[in-house]
Amino acid sequence: MDIEQHGAFAITPNPAPLSHDARAAQMENPAWGRVFTDHMATLRYSRDKGWHDAKIEALKPLQLHASAVSLHYGVEIFEGLKAYRLPDGGAQLFRPDANARRFANSAKRLVMPELPVDLFVESVRALSQIDRDWIPTADGASLYLRPFMIGTEETFATNPSGAFLYCVAAAPVGAFFSGGAQAIKLWVCEDYTRAAIGGTGETKCGGNYAAGLPAQAEALRQGCNQVIFLDAIERRWVEELGAMNVFFVFDDGTLQTPPLTGTILPGVTRDSIITLARDMGYQVNEAPYAMDQWMADAKSGRLVEAFSCGTAAVVAPISEIKGNNHNFQIGDGTPGAITTRIKTALTDIQFGRAPDPHGWCQ
Ligand code: PMP
Repeated sequence: MDIEQHGAFAITPNPAPLSHDARAAQMENPAWGRVFTDHMATLRYSRDKGWHDAKIEALKPLQLHASAVSLHYGVEIFEGLKAYRLPDGGAQLFRPDANARRFANSAKRLVMPELPVDLFVESVRALSQIDRDWIPTADGASLYLRPFMIGTEETFATNPSGAFLYCVAAAPVGAFFSGGAQAIKLWVCEDYTRAAIGGTGETKCGGNYAAGLPAQAEALRQGCNQVIFLDAIERRWVEELGAMNVFFVFDDGTLQTPPLTGTILPGVTRDSIITLARDMGYQVNEAPYAMDQWMADAKSGRLVEAFSCGTAAVVAPISEIKGNNHNFQIGDGTPGAITTRIKTALTDIQFGRAPDPHGWCQ
């Protein structure tokens, strides 16, 4: 079999990749995150060997012992980033080093080994190169890359794991919300909170998402796309959505987003939008915003737009809020001008349609 090398990663190409036609059929309007590429990257860690056994090979099921600590104690962290098709047919990654640093922070929080930034970036680059034919060309579509790490030590003991598997899988994706560019409806969750001070809110660990599922299920039952989580102490301050950060736009042209206090995931998209909005001359405040204030400002007209943002959903205008104590519409319910301007500025850089003044693309 043909074996090559990509930096630290030994490459064994999939001996039976999908044919061109089968791949094209799978990539046509794929359900979000349900179609996967031909390969995966893996890397192992043990106390005695450190990081070792870096490979790229055919995507296959993982084998784990029934006692592997990730299965019992949630020793799992992950990331999400994308490879974008460029106008000249090439491809690029958006801020993979930022995801690598967040991954290392998540690792530290769960007493997992910190994967060096260069190895993280190399793993996603190597996978997106071998699976480059899977990077979509359709408007707005991209290749979603999912790096993750699990504790594999075989024990029922609850001590930090001594063995780990790092893996990257990839999925060609289009619009995150069914209905494409339409504005989204949010459900205000007052029963469950997502994160408390001292907890894992700023960590991208699987447990956060498992614990958020009843809130997301309630949002879907209520006909909403996503849930809004409030702070765990006063149940008053807007934190973020189940899988996105949130921005508010006021009638004087200023923007606001909740501050990073340890309970919110520090989104790469959030950070990029703060920079881009300031480049465009908007004032952006990172300051707490109360749910009641949001409702009052939307009703008085002081708040004119609101949007959510994240790698998967990009920038999604918010049209309506529903909840036991909060029901209101944002603006006239259609995507606002500033939201649209910011989304265009971000995606033009990601897809290589505009210069990249901050050197974000690699
Ligand atoms: N908040 C949460 C809880 C998320 O899961 C995500 C997605 N990673 C985000 C915010 C947005 O982060 P990013 O812009 O880095 O995708």
